[in-house]
Amino acid sequence: MSKSFDVVVIGAGPGGYIAAIRAAQLGFNTACIDEFKNKEGKASLGGTCLNVGCIPSKALLESSENVERVEHKFAAHGITVEGMKFDVSKMLERKNGIVSKLTQGIGYLFKKNKVDSLHGHGKIVGRVGDKWQLEVTDGDQVEVVETTHVIIATGSTPRQLPQAPVDNILVLDNDGALSIPAVPKRLGVIGAGVIGLEMGSVWKRLGAEVTILEGAPGFLLAADEAIAKEAHKIFTKDLGLVIKTSLKIGNITKGENDVTVEYTDGEGNAFTEVFDKLIVSIGRLPNTWNLAAESVGLPLDERGYVIVDGDCRTNLPNVWAVGDVVRGPMLAHKASEEGVAVAERIAGQHPHIDFNNVPWVIYTSPEMAWVGKTEQALKAEGVEYRKGQFPFGPNGRALGLGETAGFVKMLACAKTDRILGVHIIGPFASELITEAVVAMEFNASSEDIARIVHAHPSLSEALHEAALGVDKRGLHS
Ligand code: FAD
Repeated sequence: MSKSFDVVVIGAGPGGYIAAIRAAQLGFNTACIDEFKNKEGKASLGGTCLNVGCIPSKALLESSENVERVEHKFAAHGITVEGMKFDVSKMLERKNGIVSKLTQGIGYLFKKNKVDSLHGHGKIVGRVGDKWQLEVTDGDQVEVVETTHVIIATGSTPRQLPQAPVDNILVLDNDGALSIPAVPKRLGVIGAGVIGLEMGSVWKRLGAEVTILEGAPGFLLAADEAIAKEAHKIFTKDLGLVIKTSLKIGNITKGENDVTVEYTDGEGNAFTEVFDKLIVSIGRLPNTWNLAAESVGLPLDERGYVIVDGDCRTNLPNVWAVGDVVRGPMLAHKASEEGVAVAERIAGQHPHIDFNNVPWVIYTSPEMAWVGKTEQALKAEGVEYRKGQFPFGPNGRALGLGETAGFVKMLACAKTDRILGVHIIGPFASELITEAVVAMEFNASSEDIARIVHAHPSLSEALHEAALGVDKRGLHS
């Protein structure tokens, strides 16, 4: 007899594992199916985020920032390190250790919450009565399970360039970019998005010459223009990344030990560059391959995303989908919150996610983080707004840290003073943005932030000053 569940989640990334834990907490008999295997061929929970995404990238970013601190920042503190050496294999080992600690932690959480963890490829094959039938295929073994509810959380995989399939030796996706065994002399990165910038800056700080090639007509078009401009200046002038935009990528030819990329710029000028490694970070595609039998009729849009409504319901009874496999930003925290909300909806609760208040973070140095509307979006929508901006330069804590680049910008409605967007480039922007998210979630005004006591000396004082600046009463500007 096949195993029977109330809820089966397909995918154990931050959308799926969180959905499974929450469903189990709510009293449902829950299973989570995942097919991911790590480089040792072992099943590893946590999806892209924990295995080959958010977590390992942040571990390597920190290692590379430590190298930069020793090389360029310690001297200002009167600290001299002679003969500084670093060992990439040790950095990778540390990164792998963090990944395995966290991925094993999910196994522990599954056991604690009595979530049945099933390894293999999950596929919805049909419906008998009010139960969905799923196949779980692991090698030659096929197990059939049945369930009342299905939560699809199968995530995404990197989009590839047809002329340069990823081999993770010369042409690398995120997985390969996080495991380069030695610093390449010349590193090419196609795509100046979050992943391209984070990976490019890791290897640049470790000594590679890094050239980022971008097809879009500008740099970081999703960000507020002032943030993008400041980031471009810091990344090119201070860090030394070469960033070229408005390009059309042509032939890519793999040699024995290098890759040649041909491209043209916006004026039609042709270029050829040779790299020792090439990272391709041009976006990600939803994982819907072989996910449901055709007869099931799982609705997909023209780009392959599972079609859901605002509550993550598909048009099939009791079939839900969350995370990267559905519309919206490909962010781990968005996936997790959708996972929680779906489990609670299955339990008859009425959770709500405000997608306008999902924070974005890019973990470069300095970090960038934002929530809400950009200034250019407000202008395009004809919304009247007031603006406050404060640099980290005069902030005492930033000076102490030696991290004074960047600023905080707050945008508030001209009529109601409600905060419409907060944009930060600077130290610990990833942590600072949460104050803005909380404020916006509670419909706060800039005046609310201006009236809150902020600890001194702290980076959050820059947010406080930006709020005061909205009303043109900044105390330090
Ligand atoms: P995933 O994490 O992709 O998990 C899906 C899981 O389902 C995978 O294990 C997959 O193998 C499995 N699966 C797929 N199909 C099946 C099937 N049919 N049967 C069984 N299992 C299946 N986001 C952030 O918010 N912050 C960051 O700092 C950040 N950094 C990133 C850095 C990199 C290099 C990358 C690549 C991504 C980063 N992201 C970041 C994005 C983040 O990783 C994703 O948004 C997040 O992992 C999406 O979660 P998910 O649960 O939807 O899918």
